[in-house]
Amino acid sequence: MPKSLPVELPERLCLGNLPTPLQPLVRISERYSLPFDGPRIWVKRDDLTEFGMSGNKLRKLEFVAAEALSRGCDTLITCGGAQSNHCRTTALVGARLGLGVHLILRGEPDTAVDGNLLLDHLAGANVSIYSPSEYAANLEQIFAYWHEEYLAHGHHSLCIPTGASDGLGIWGYLAASQELIEDYSSQGFEPEHIVCATGSGGTQAGLTLGCQLLQVKTGVTGYAVCDSAAYFQSKVREDISHWSRLTGIDLDLSSLKVGVNANYIGPGYGVADPEVYQTIIEVASLEGILLDPVYTGKAFHGLLQQLRNGIYQGCSNVVFVHTGGQFSLFPYRKNFSFQQD
Ligand SMILES: *Cc1c(COP(=O)(O)O)cnc(C)c1O
Repeated sequence: MPKSLPVELPERLCLGNLPTPLQPLVRISERYSLPFDGPRIWVKRDDLTEFGMSGNKLRKLEFVAAEALSRGCDTLITCGGAQSNHCRTTALVGARLGLGVHLILRGEPDTAVDGNLLLDHLAGANVSIYSPSEYAANLEQIFAYWHEEYLAHGHHSLCIPTGASDGLGIWGYLAASQELIEDYSSQGFEPEHIVCATGSGGTQAGLTLGCQLLQVKTGVTGYAVCDSAAYFQSKVREDISHWSRLTGIDLDLSSLKVGVNANYIGPGYGVADPEVYQTIIEVASLEGILLDPVYTGKAFHGLLQQLRNGIYQGCSNVVFVHTGGQFSLFPYRKNFSFQQD
């Protein structure tokens, strides 16, 4: 009997195709890990949560959208980069539930309608694009402005923070931790490590808290795609302590182990070194799995480097949580070059 979370889950909408598969990466393991006494690498296919709404944000939005409906909201307002996977997922979730969606996006006014931004428009979301400087300086006021604007037209909106990462959104990966335990039990192993890309910290926070509450030996490491290790150390704790306040469940945050690797961010958010693109090509051609240049490609590239460095030597199994993001491959197409006759 697999262990279960000692807390009751709040209301949740079933939007994803769960559980997602947990699959071995046979050829990647054979090339990068097993010959060097490294672990078998597994992938939790959260890129398959639901076609257009695919990726990690859907797990969080199952709880956030349930909250919006229970508060009687008819509109979702959220924010992110012009190629935000979270915004695209919110746009499609809104369409699926018959809710209005307003997206506050960071980008240049002439941002190409491609990748996720194309899907935002297809889903009928209202899109406002702000320059990076205005976005950085005024995000809170921009949220307040749109919230008031909708209210003035008789609409009640729920404002969802970046990446739906807060004490409510982290339920998504708390519940996923339970799902992983069931996966391990049917596959017959318990991994020493789970790794994922970390951007707004909520996925990592949910997995970290999940492993603590489930009392498993598995360590969780977020491979940062932006900011710094110190930022994620504090953001993960902030989301978990928000969860603790919302649920009234006391936690000893000082005993919480937060694992961050910030060595593979490269030039910055949304900008990757050529090696990351090489890794994307390698994983697609070796395993038939699509990574993206903003999140999963960077994180997986970091994981491969760490395997090479022997960091996971002696471990038997490591699980990479594939958090999605494939639609952003298209707007980044210029960074790949291929020969064809
Ligand atoms: C948002 C996102 C992440 C990071 O998840 P956070 O919970 O924001 O840290 C990782 N991968 C993809 C594809 C994402 O869209």
